[in-house]
Amino acid sequence: MTSRNQQLYELSQRVIPGGVNSPVRAFKSVGGTPIFFQRGQGPYFWDVDGKAYIDYVGSWGPLILGHAHPEVIKSVHEAAQNGLSFGAPTEAELIIAELVCSLLPSIEQVRLVSSGTEAGMSAIRLARGYTNRSRIIKFEGCYHGHDDALLVKAGSGALTFGHPSSAGVPSETAAHTIVLSYNDIPSVEKAFNDFGNEIAAVIVEPVAGNMNLVKASPDFLTTLRKLCTQYGSVLIFDEVMTGFRVGLECAQGLYQIKPDLTILGKVIGGGMPMAAFGGRRDIMQCLAPLGAVYQAGTLSGNPVAVAAGLATLNEVQKPGFYEALAAKTEQLVQGLTEIAKQHGIAFSAQAVGGMFGLYFRETAPESFADVMACDKEAFNRFFHAMLQEGVYFAPSAFEAGFVSSSHTEEEINKTLSAAGRIFATWK
Ligand code: PMP
Repeated sequence: MTSRNQQLYELSQRVIPGGVNSPVRAFKSVGGTPIFFQRGQGPYFWDVDGKAYIDYVGSWGPLILGHAHPEVIKSVHEAAQNGLSFGAPTEAELIIAELVCSLLPSIEQVRLVSSGTEAGMSAIRLARGYTNRSRIIKFEGCYHGHDDALLVKAGSGALTFGHPSSAGVPSETAAHTIVLSYNDIPSVEKAFNDFGNEIAAVIVEPVAGNMNLVKASPDFLTTLRKLCTQYGSVLIFDEVMTGFRVGLECAQGLYQIKPDLTILGKVIGGGMPMAAFGGRRDIMQCLAPLGAVYQAGTLSGNPVAVAAGLATLNEVQKPGFYEALAAKTEQLVQGLTEIAKQHGIAFSAQAVGGMFGLYFRETAPESFADVMACDKEAFNRFFHAMLQEGVYFAPSAFEAGFVSSSHTEEEINKTLSAAGRIFATWK
């Protein structure tokens, strides 16, 4: 008998390209049939055939409190009762803006949008408008959403499917984007030496999470800060993934570096479509209606999305939240590393706060080239074997994983036992 999942997938492919509304959901890289989900609670979610999985994707990052957290759901219900959208300012937008500005010293003003893509695209336009320059620098394997200018040697799904530079992006647009290697200081110095006065912005994931997980070296980020200041270029930290995920003060707090602009998404929306960009007041004030850089959105600052974000940010501010999250994530990666070692498997893993990377390679990667040298086939086998065991990791070797505050010792231990069974018969 065909499963409900298989039926839904076949029907979906008729009316939705690839059967999915975002490419990495399609399981193309790992093979097999994407799973259709029905409901989630805490660290678990259930597919349409009733099978439960421990979730280490968390909707690709937003669900730092796990699925259907009671406070988030309550807050969303309350907001929805009062109307879904006004297209006019609300007090809740002021409250979340004040909160973001108080938590991140680099942000003096912030604007809400509906996706990380919009935040990245808007930040780039703003940086160009502010500097009156066109060139931007990005790093190979970093993903900043699917805006044309940023979809050049990008990570995430673009990398997974072997099209890191998308068709449909005019070469004139891509020509303004200088792509350099992550963590490669000399190449950044050379680019500034050659083009410094033409560079509007440098955009970087301060912990890269779209080519698996690669930590920036502190010297690399310090160099970016120094050169942007020296040449009057705008330093943009893409904290869509790391924002309120690696700590309350985000990656910029961990590295103690102040970007000029920051883009936020995922956790800030608590699972609803909400993202933001913000930073220095003098730059932000170039935005319409004050300045000449246009940016807008019918659903920007949507009251239901803001309610989910506020409820989430309320929880993560509770004392000890990030310490507990980081400890659990560390327990997962250390546990997996030890089990792999016992069985002589070339494997490593690392965590930053509540995000982690798993690598079929002896040591954690420090560059895009290192990530490319991981054994992708081994990852794919591991992914499917874990799926069979009821553990859902991201369906691609190039994505980071996420632990939520709802994951307990029990789920971590179940995951490690499953990995133990798989690695015991690994050839
Ligand atoms: N930047 C980063 C670092 C991301 O991880 C993502 C999404 N994975 C984006 C930007 C784009 O966000 P969205 O999918 O909400 O458009």
